Amino acid sequence: MNSKFQNISVEEIERRLKDAGVNPTTQRIAIFKYILCDADHPTADQIKSWADKNFPKVSLATIYNTLNVLVDAGLLRELNLPESDSVVYDKTLSEHHHFLDQQTGHLIDIEGDQIRVELKLKRQLKISEMDILLRGTQN
Ligand SMILES: [Zn+2]
Repeated sequence: MNSKFQNISVEEIERRLKDAGVNPTTQRIAIFKYILCDADHPTADQIKSWADKNFPKVSLATIYNTLNVLVDAGLLRELNLPESDSVVYDKTLSEHHHFLDQQTGHLIDIEGDQIRVELKLKRQLKISEMDILLRGTQN
């Protein structure tokens, strides 16, 4: 888990939402805070499980709606993992890559400067983004 996100106050969360043009409703603050402070690349279902314990009346539709608002506002990134149906939500907005632990399914951030890629493309492609997914196991 990324420790730099651990202690973010409700006021700070509210400010970030407002700065991004998002109306800071209680549910949005709670969900965003959970993702920033407690979760690590959660799926919508994982967020729903957490919400069920804390806000029993929040539907999965509301969770998805909130996540879409946060993604559209540029506060979260949506990641589609190739071999699974689930989308995970990433609080790290800067360029980074991922390592997928194939035993646990756990996704770990790899800083952008920890991977160097040399492209030898045969076509002229204009690359706008590069997401690298490493797979393996941890010792
Ligand atoms: Zn990430």
